[in-house]
Amino acid sequence: MSEDVFKKIVSHCKEYGFVFQSSEIYDGLSAVYDYGQMGVELKNNIKKYWWDSMVLLNENVVGIDSAIFMHPTIWKASGHVDAFNDPLIDNKDSKKRYRADVLIEDYLAKIDDKINKEVEKAAKRFGESFDEAMYRQTNPRVLENQAKRDEVHARFAKALNDSNLEELRQIIVDCEIVDPISGTRNWTEVRQFNLMFSTEMGSTADGAMKVYLRPETAQGIFVNFLNVQKTGRMKIPFGIAQIGKAFRNEIVARQFIFRMREFEQMEMQFFVRPGEELEWFAKWKEVRMKWHKALGFGDHKYRFHDHDKLAHYANAATDVEFEMPFGFKEVEGIHSRTDFDLSSHEKYSGKKLQYFDPELNKSYTPYVIETSIGVDRMFLSIVSASYAEEVLEDGETRVVLRLPAALAPIKLGVLPLVKKDGLPEKAREIIDALKFDFKCQYDEKDSIGKRYRRQDAIGTPYCVTVDHQSLEDNTVTIRYRDTMEQERVAIDKLSDIISDKVSMKNLLKTIG
Ligand code: ATP
Repeated sequence: MSEDVFKKIVSHCKEYGFVFQSSEIYDGLSAVYDYGQMGVELKNNIKKYWWDSMVLLNENVVGIDSAIFMHPTIWKASGHVDAFNDPLIDNKDSKKRYRADVLIEDYLAKIDDKINKEVEKAAKRFGESFDEAMYRQTNPRVLENQAKRDEVHARFAKALNDSNLEELRQIIVDCEIVDPISGTRNWTEVRQFNLMFSTEMGSTADGAMKVYLRPETAQGIFVNFLNVQKTGRMKIPFGIAQIGKAFRNEIVARQFIFRMREFEQMEMQFFVRPGEELEWFAKWKEVRMKWHKALGFGDHKYRFHDHDKLAHYANAATDVEFEMPFGFKEVEGIHSRTDFDLSSHEKYSGKKLQYFDPELNKSYTPYVIETSIGVDRMFLSIVSASYAEEVLEDGETRVVLRLPAALAPIKLGVLPLVKKDGLPEKAREIIDALKFDFKCQYDEKDSIGKRYRRQDAIGTPYCVTVDHQSLEDNTVTIRYRDTMEQERVAIDKLSDIISDKVSMKNLLKTIG
């Protein structure tokens, strides 16, 4: 898929009421978006899929909803005040600002692409007898590129780990990375930039307190760890899940809802015995990948990407990457955070945050595995993977969102063939009977063909058409979004036919 398709997806999201630019009538606010009438339904369904997979399917995972504002010392303890920085670099000609690490990552991805293209070409040439591993080990061009990649990658990982900003700049210079806009290599120094938004609480006259908009939801879980453990009588291992807004003053906010300044996270912190964290890390990796793949977009669209730079608190970390229209990108992070956060809060608050383990007969600070996924990125990955333009047999094209039925905003379109003869009333009767089971939409405007297209475009998996025969024998024509096949069915069978296919329960059963 290309950038071109991505543009189409962005305009599709606007045209059909999924996502709008924030404050559009005032020319917009950069990297902030609003969800429209369709978007909010899809978003809520994604959140429900995640929430239920955590708190329904796991007896030992419970949820909370903590406040966005928190005591400012929390962000000192978590390390965000001192270390939640991105390295930024400006191009003096285009005056554009970039993340130095992202420029280098993109460069590395280009080398990977080159190597893969070479391999693909050879695979075509040699056909069945092609031995990919052997080719990668022996082809001089592949070897040369691989060596270059490994060298840059090693320097990059070291520079990140050492927070060596000069070296980051030197890598950009040595690799001759150019600004995609100006095409020049006229770069400034690399500087650190803190991503937290701050504001003031209380009136300035009383000496207002500087507070931050949370850059992640996780800290609300850490500081409530003992509240939940004690009041819920939770035994380790157990998890706390939360969905909520987070805010980051991203330097480079492009790519639509992939990188926003206000976004939503779904995070789960799982508290375990020290020493058992890597086992749980492996387990949650598996569980989370299964959750993604159950959506049915194809296993090849997902991969793990282990971190080059482990955050100061982590002893293992990986990303779940999804193939977006602009390449494989992170949608979820899975981190083994050790006891860093709880210990640090103990230190800064002076309160004990320990757990007494009755089996071991001792107290300890639990270790934590975290799974952290962005709702908006998940939304983008789902819409991108669902979007298809198809040429039909009659030469016309249709745009269809092949959304998983359980996530689709509208499950059933109900369409009277004409606006008279009692057909609209019959259609309303159907909706009144089904509206308790799932979301239906009534549409009587334009030809049936046009109405089908509109439902395809918002991803509605089923439509029924009410015609004159319906009045006589209580049947309708049901039409399936993906195959466009139609068949005659009894109205009183509709609930059975559709409920099963659109139910969250059945989707959850594939992973539970
Ligand atoms: P990136 O490297 O892309 O900035 P990150 O590694 O900082 O992301 P985490 O801090 O691990 O991200 O956050 C967990 C998840 O939250 C990410 O996987 C992503 O889905 C989501 N997320 C983070 N930042 C943003 C953002 N600015 N806009 C939308 N979603 C975001």
